[in-house]
Amino acid sequence: MASSLPVQALTDDALWARVAGQARCADSGLDPDQWYPVSIEPARARHEAAAAIAVCARCPVRAQCLELSLRHWDIGRHGVWGGLVATDRADLRRRRPAGHRGTAISAMIGPPSWPPVGSGLVRGGGVR
Ligand code: SF4
Repeated sequence: MASSLPVQALTDDALWARVAGQARCADSGLDPDQWYPVSIEPARARHEAAAAIAVCARCPVRAQCLELSLRHWDIGRHGVWGGLVATDRADLRRRRPAGHRGTAISAMIGPPSWPPVGSGLVRGGGVR
């Protein structure tokens, strides 16, 4: 069931429960390596992880996944989470205000359909 609370207001347990219950990557069929681009340069990394990013673009818990990666940077710094590669998440993390409560993740990543899958601009996914 959807919540009217912003993801920043949810507890870790609530976020994990939603992600674990609805993660599109859980049954994506992709090789695990596709979630871990080797390049650091963002455009190359997005290209390497395009298939994973496309899965994230259709995921109903993208914002929750991204929030978890930013909160738990020890694990959240690796691979694709919430439709973003590591370099993009690191940049997002740097731009977050201290305490990050005032910043809407959904405003940062856009609606799930943007950018369109296949456009080459799709960013991209955390629970495998
Ligand atoms: S990595 Fe995150 S956003 Fe991508 S499919 Fe998995 S749960 Fe959804």
